This record gives sequence, C-alpha cells and structure tokens, in this order.
Amino acid sequence: MVLDKLGAALSEALRKVTGKGFVDKSVVDEFIRDLQRALLQADVDVKLVFDLSSRIREKVLNEKPSVGLTAKEHMVKTVYDELVNFLGRETGSVELKRQKILLVGLYGSGKSTSAAKLARFFTKKGLKPALVGCDTFRPAAQEQVLQLGRQIGVPSYAQGDDPAKTAAEAIKKFSDREVIIFDSAGRNALDAELAEELKNLRDAIKPDEVFLVIPADIGQVAGKQSEEFAKLVGITGVIVTKMDGTAKGGAALSSCSIVNAPIKFIGVGEKVDEFEQYDPKRFVSRLIGYGDLQSLIEKAEEIKSPELTKSAENMMSGKYSLQDFYEQIESIKKMGPLKQVMQMIPGLKLPDGMADVQEKQMVKWKTAMDSMTAKEKLSPELIEASRIKRIAKGSGLKEDEVKELMKHYDRTKKMMKILGGKNLKRGGFAQLARQFGMRM
Ligand code: GDP
Ligand code: MG
Repeated sequence: MVLDKLGAALSEALRKVTGKGFVDKSVVDEFIRDLQRALLQADVDVKLVFDLSSRIREKVLNEKPSVGLTAKEHMVKTVYDELVNFLGRETGSVELKRQKILLVGLYGSGKSTSAAKLARFFTKKGLKPALVGCDTFRPAAQEQVLQLGRQIGVPSYAQGDDPAKTAAEAIKKFSDREVIIFDSAGRNALDAELAEELKNLRDAIKPDEVFLVIPADIGQVAGKQSEEFAKLVGITGVIVTKMDGTAKGGAALSSCSIVNAPIKFIGVGEKVDEFEQYDPKRFVSRLIGYGDLQSLIEKAEEIKSPELTKSAENMMSGKYSLQDFYEQIESIKKMGPLKQVMQMIPGLKLPDGMADVQEKQMVKWKTAMDSMTAKEKLSPELIEASRIKRIAKGSGLKEDEVKELMKHYDRTKKMMKILGGKNLKRGGFAQLARQFGMRM
C-alpha cells in the first residue's frame, strides 16, 4: 500500500496509546515523538511536521473531549482530524462541466499518462473529452499522446513545433468536445525556457484548471518545485502520481498545503484505470489502518440511545442484567455487521474469522434471550436447570449454548463489579466495545 511504512508507524504509535490505561502528558509526548519520527521518515517537510505535531499536542492536552468520547478516543480523533487536514482537507472533487485543463510538471512526472487517465475518468463520467499533446520538445511525446488517445478511444491532437499554436488549433478542432485536456512539455528543471513556454501556453489556452503533476517519490524538493510552478502559472489542483511505487510520498502529498490547492487525483499504477479521486478522509483511514474512523465516530454518536446509556450505567453499578446485555447486542447490530464495526475500531486487530464467530454467537444469544421471559432477563439468577432446558427448546438451541450465554453473562457481571467505578468516565462506546472483548 501507499506509504506503507508511515501507516505502520502511525498505527503502532496509536496502538501504544490505546494500550495505555489513560492519557496524560507523558503519553501524549511519547506519541508526538513517534509521530514526528514517522512523518520525517516518510519525507514530510520538517517545518510542516513540527506545525502539525504541535497542533495535535495542543489540542489533545487542552481541548475538552466532545461528549461521549473518552480522552483516548478524543486523542485518536484529533490525530485523525489533523492528518486529514494536513493531507488535503478537501476531497478531490472535479466539476463535471465543459472545461479546459492544463497539466504541468517536470519531465517524467507522469503528465502524459495522467492526461490519458483524466480523459478516461471524464469518459466514464459521461463527458466527451479530447487530448492535446503540447509537448513539442520531444518528438516521441506527440506520438505518445496520439497513441494514448487511440488506446482509450478519445480523439487526440498533437502537431507542430509551437505549443501555444498547437493548443489554439486544438481548441478550434475540438469545439464539440466537452473537456479538453492539454499535456505540456517538461524539463529536468523549471528553467527560463520552460517558464516562458508554459506562460505562453497558459495564455493561449486560458484553462479553467491547471493541475500540477507531481510524482510521489520526488522527496524534499516537492515543496520548492510546487511553489515555483504555482508562482509561474497558478495551480488549481494537484495530481500525485506513482503512489504505488514508494514507501515515502509524504513530501508530495504535503505539497498541496504549500501551493494551497487540493490534491485532486492520485495515480496508483501505470495503467489508465489506475487512477483515483483523492479523498483525504479515506486516505488517512487507510493509511493508519483504522478502517473508516470517521463513520465509527458518527456511529458511536448515533448509538448513544437512552437504552444504551441506561445499560451502561447498570453495567457500572453492578445492576447489569440480561436485559442490558440484550440491548447492547441490539445497539451493536444497529451499527452494521460486526466485522465492519470491528474494522473501525482503532488498534483492534482480530484473527481472521473471529468477527464471524462472534457475530454468530451474538445471534444465538439474542435468540436464546428472545425465548426468556421479561422477568428472567431482569433477574437472570432465576434461571436454573429446568428453565435452561425450556429456553433451549423454545429457541431451538442446545442446552450447552444457553449455558454458555449464562456463563458469559456471569463473567461480564463479575468483571464489571471489579472494574466498576474506575471506569465510569469511559465513553459509552468504549464500554460497549469492551463487552465484546475489544480493547479501546
Ligand atoms: P511525463 O514525462 O510527465 O509525460 O511522464 P509520463 O506520463 O510519460 O510518465 C513517465 C513514466 O511514469 C511512465 O513510464 C509511466 O508509465 C509512469 N507512470 C506515470 N504515472 C504512474 C503511476 O501512477 N504509477 C506508476 N507506477 N507509474 C506511472
Ligand atoms: Mg509527457
């Protein structure tokens, strides 16, 4: 995966936090050090790393967690929010309208490939694109664009030795096409000649969008280079290519915060379909291996039902009954398949198949409880051997399975008595998670 190492280092750092009993200054400081090291190793600019980490530190230590979140959950959420902010804030949305798009970037950054990928993207969205090769610097470049056009079934034009003239001709020729994508020439550096050429090209095209194409493996020069292009022609969006081929990429990704333009797409392979619209939330979630943390938090908010709050209170005060257990199962089920719910839980790594086993178990227990009377659920101590037999019959389960439920209930209740008061401040979701053997 993209930025594998950074992802692994971040999840490890967060796992350390979730393993701690509570969050205090030393826990936060240790986490910040881990975070900084991970980001620096991923090639993120030093200044950006320190800005980011001091913002996280400040928020974690000084902000009050929002209602329903524990200090730890608040910390994880802050880290997530700040990383999302850092890596783009906005989703890479592109307007599906008539427009002209100019791609700029250095030689080999992936401009021509991205031009074709972009054309393919618009075709899939139902628009009619055209490709224009304005790289008149290298003869093979024009042939490449024409060939890419043929490959994806998109009309293309690449002729002449003056980029601005080529562009002007293409605009006339493609007046019936909705999106015209202009591939420009690159050099090994942004020298005076290229600067002049790109300015003329931009003036001839008057593009609606200018996308900077930047390879993920570019390293620390990303910032400086992005800035130069931005000053020269103005950048409205960034395409980060070759995300499939590097463990770094932090510098390229953070260049969007330097040019102040969102990352629109990422290239994840050489093929025309290996191209994704960039979504910082999804990206960060995948990066730190937390599934979709955002929806976890939203869901945790949703399930703050009165019944659940009551059952959590009962749990803490030792009044925990099977009725409470029943309601907890219902709440978990409301959040979706257990497998997905578990994937959303920070730091939780379960052996394969474990979620399925738990899920089946929950269904069985719920069935068993459906065959109990209300009185039995509220006072489980009433349930002795003959009642177990009856419940098993009524629910179609084996007696052993009902006994297993009773054992689980007893164990949980005992555990809650022991832990009780100490954990009163924990969020409802954490309690719920713990009930099912998850640790948050
Ligand atoms: P240009 O000089 O900027 O036009 O760069 P090209 O589009 O010709 O791409 C240069 C090389 O990078 C080619 O070999 C492409 O196949 C490769 N390339 C472009 N985008 C990606 C990508 O997202 N992933 C990978 N692995 N290779 C890419
Ligand atoms: Mg090219």
